[in-house]
Amino acid sequence: MNNQTTIRVRFAPSPTGELHVGGARTALYNYLFARAQDGQFIIRLEDTDQERYVPGSLDRLLSGLKWLGISWDEGPDKGGPYAPYIQSARLDLYKKYALQLINTQAAYYCFCSTERLTELRLKQQTSNEPSRYDRCCLNLTAEQIQTKLSAGENYTIRLLVPPGKTEFSDLIRGTIIIDNQTIDDQVLLKSDGYPTYHLANVVDDYLMQITHVIRGEEWLPSASKHILLYRALGWAAPEFAHLPNVLNKNRAKLSKRKDGAAVWVETYKEQGYLPEALVNFLALLGWHPTGDQELFTLDELIKQFSLTRVQKAGAIFDIDKLLWFNNAYIKKLPPAELDELLQPFYRQLTATLGRPAKNTLNLTTVLQTRLTTLGEVSSLATWFFKKDLNLTAGVLTPAQSHNDKTKLALRQTMEIIPTITDWNIANLQTVVTAVKEQSGLSNQEFLWPVRMALSGEKQSPDVYSLLWALGADESISRLQTARAVLAE
Ligand code: GLU
Repeated sequence: MNNQTTIRVRFAPSPTGELHVGGARTALYNYLFARAQDGQFIIRLEDTDQERYVPGSLDRLLSGLKWLGISWDEGPDKGGPYAPYIQSARLDLYKKYALQLINTQAAYYCFCSTERLTELRLKQQTSNEPSRYDRCCLNLTAEQIQTKLSAGENYTIRLLVPPGKTEFSDLIRGTIIIDNQTIDDQVLLKSDGYPTYHLANVVDDYLMQITHVIRGEEWLPSASKHILLYRALGWAAPEFAHLPNVLNKNRAKLSKRKDGAAVWVETYKEQGYLPEALVNFLALLGWHPTGDQELFTLDELIKQFSLTRVQKAGAIFDIDKLLWFNNAYIKKLPPAELDELLQPFYRQLTATLGRPAKNTLNLTTVLQTRLTTLGEVSSLATWFFKKDLNLTAGVLTPAQSHNDKTKLALRQTMEIIPTITDWNIANLQTVVTAVKEQSGLSNQEFLWPVRMALSGEKQSPDVYSLLWALGADESISRLQTARAVLAE
C-alpha cells in the first residue's frame, strides 16, 4: 500500500454504454468503503480502447451514479488534484513509463506485424499450446531496434514477464499465487500510441494514490500482471479486493448478450424502481450484514459495510427480491412524494386514455401498497384515466340480479354523494353501507354495479376507494353514464 493513511478508492468504468448493474455495485462498494473511513472516492474514465468507445457514455455513467445517490470527490466532471481523470487525456504519461520500463529492461519493443501474431496464434491453437507471444523481438540487437525505430516502423512495447511466481493477497480471496509461465508478455503500449488497460490502470492507480483497488472478479487474472508492473516500476502495489460476479438466475454471469436490457441501471429507472431500493438490493448482492436487517439507508450501509463480509461465490441477481425491496420502499414514501414520482407515468396514461392527470393524490394512496414498480400504474390505474369505460348492461348487472336492482343501486349512490361532506374512505364506507342496507339489496346486487360503473374493471379496488380516488363529480358523472346505458 502507498505510504499514506487516507483511503483512496476509485471506480474506473470504460465508456462502452450505459451503467451496468454489476458496475453500479462495484461503484457502490467503493463508495461505501471510502465514506466509512473518511476516505476519497474517485471516478476515472478508462477510454484507451478506442474501438469500444460509445459516445455519450460518460454522461450516462455519471448520471446513473447520481441517480443512485452515489457521490464522488474527484472525477472527469469535477476535476481534482490528479486531473485529468480521463485516460485519453493522459497519453504522454503512459508513454513515459513505458519507456522507463524499456530503459530498465523490464519491457521490450516488439515490431511483429498483426499478420505474424495471428499466424502464431493459429499455430499455437492447432497444436493445443497456450496462446503466447514467442519473444521473437527479444532477440533484436540494440542497433536493429534503433534502425527500425528510425525507419518509423510500427511497434508495441511489451512487458518482459520474469520467471518465477507472483504472489499477492486479495482482501476477499486471500493469498493468490500465479506461476509467471502462464502469463503472456503483455502489450503495454499499442502501435497507435495508446496504452493498454494494464499499463494505464497501474500508472493511474499509482499516480492517483489509490490505496485499495475494489473491482469485479473478472479482473482477477489481470491482478498478477499488475503486480508485476508495480514491481517493475519500483512502486508499492495497492491492496486488492475482487468482488464476486453478479449472476443471472441460471447462475451464468449477468451479461448484455444473455440478459439484454436487464443489465442496465437505466432500465430499472425507466420501469419505476426507486434508487433507494436498487441501492439496498445491490448492497446485499455479495455482502452480508451481521444481523438480519434487510432495509438499509445509504447512511446505514456506510456504517455497516465491510469488505470482510463480502462473499467469494457469485451473487445471484434475484429480480423478485428487487421487487420486494422496491415495494417496501414505495410503501414507505409519503403519498405526496410518491404522487410526484408517478406523474410521468400518469401523464403517459392521460396521453393514451384521455383523462387529465389531475387530483391524483387519492389515487396514488389507493395504489401505494400494491405497487412493486412505479411503472405498474400503467396497468393498475387505467380505470382512473379512461374517458370511456365501454359499459354494457351485461357487465353492470351481475348474474342472479336484475337491471332494475342495478338501476336502484346506481341511483341511490348517485344521490347520496352530494350529501357527503367528509370525503374519506372510512366515511364513504359508512355512508354507502347504510344506503345499501336500506335498499334491501345484497352486497353483490348493490356493490358490483357501482364498482363496474366507477371502474369498468373486474379487478379494480373496492367501491369506497374508487369513490375516494375519483372524487364526487367524476363519480357522479360515471354513475350517470352507467344509468344511461341501462336506460337504452
Ligand atoms: N476499465 C475497467 C472496467 O471497465 C476497470 C477495471 C478496474 O477497476 O481495474 O471495468
